[in-house]
Amino acid sequence: MERSSALNNDKQFVWHPFTQMQTAPEPLHIVRALGTKLFDSDGKSYIDANSSWWVNVHGHGHPHLAAALSEQFQQVDHIIFAGATHDSAIRLAKRVIDLLPQELTKVFFSDDGSTAVEVALKMAFQYWFNRGENRKRVIALEGAYHGDTFGAMSVGARDVFNKPFEPFFFEVDFLDFPTTKNAHELLHQAEKLLKSGEVAALIVEPLIQGSSGMRMYPIAFLDQLVSLCKKYGTLVIFDEVMTGWGRTGRMFALNYTEKVPDIVCLSKGLTGGVLPLGLTVTTEQIYEAFLHDETARAFLHGHSFTGSALACAAANASLDLFEEQDTWEAIERIEEQHLVFAQRLKKLEKVSGIGVCGTILRFEINADDSGYFSGKRDLIYQHMLDRGVLLRPLGNVIYINPPYCITNEELDEIYLAITSLLEVI
Ligand SMILES: *Cc1c(COP(=O)(O)O)cnc(C)c1O
Repeated sequence: MERSSALNNDKQFVWHPFTQMQTAPEPLHIVRALGTKLFDSDGKSYIDANSSWWVNVHGHGHPHLAAALSEQFQQVDHIIFAGATHDSAIRLAKRVIDLLPQELTKVFFSDDGSTAVEVALKMAFQYWFNRGENRKRVIALEGAYHGDTFGAMSVGARDVFNKPFEPFFFEVDFLDFPTTKNAHELLHQAEKLLKSGEVAALIVEPLIQGSSGMRMYPIAFLDQLVSLCKKYGTLVIFDEVMTGWGRTGRMFALNYTEKVPDIVCLSKGLTGGVLPLGLTVTTEQIYEAFLHDETARAFLHGHSFTGSALACAAANASLDLFEEQDTWEAIERIEEQHLVFAQRLKKLEKVSGIGVCGTILRFEINADDSGYFSGKRDLIYQHMLDRGVLLRPLGNVIYINPPYCITNEELDEIYLAITSLLEVI
């Protein structure tokens, strides 16, 4: 579509996510996406430095994914997933189980990250219900983001994003964000809650809280918290929607922890970031609590697009690419480049909270008004766009988590744009 008529129609007919439509500037009109690059109808190109909201891991328009999707479409496009199955879902489930610790044995399909979390919570609640035990409480971490559906919002940060919905949330006990300083106290608090025997589940984003500003926390704390949950029989849910698929340098964040969760939520990079798909993976013990002669004991949950064959084909093709050494070498290379740039950032006074984990680099620009609504946010966004870099700062937090096919030259372009930003801001 021609640029001005496209943007006019967009303004007239489209309501964008996380956007104040009255004040938002014109959106980018993207006409092509290839590798790490997005091209707009003005002929400008942008490096997709946040992997299109953290989903795109292998670059846009990848030929292997395109071929797999085309082939899948000609065989089975999408079919009902209750009372029917298909090879791409079966193959994907087996491959995901093979990648995860042996305790995790069953895959439930859904549509995206939020539904993967919603399924995890419902599974946990019904697990206790089916066993006739009264466990209704949930523990989560302050600042958490688990998605935008009601269950997922309930266990997420209580902030301006979900204020209108707060009266409808179930009760959750939030632990402060863990640091090396407060870890001991938090574990003490957690144990007090767990001892009540009423806690159904703990849900966390393992190692890194994404939306609260790519905040990293100690692995040791997580292992200790999970140990406590196991001691008191509370189920542990790892929301790996953001941390999965190599983002943290290993396949999953749980590859860094000693303890294994009871439920894992996966999405985002699962399909290489080209189609929506969510997986909730769990243990034999949880699965078995739903087996009974009565249908009412079953997990009576599903979505029209559950197990979409096209999405499964994309996920299988993405997993093929993770079997190639090149992908892991690229992930390592990106981390090395980030670490070098982080050293340079450390010398600057304007900057704090620098962290690197796998392909994620994050830091804060010191500001009087920190947080998501920091006045610095729009300045940062525009400055980077002008220099051909698309990233979405979380307030005064800047982070990069690019597709793994990004070159060192492109990384340097991003670092250079950040350096020039720090000179003017
Ligand atoms: C993005 C995200 C979600 C929600 O996933 P959607 O696909 O956007 O619904 C849930 N949990 C975490 C940790 C996320 O980063």
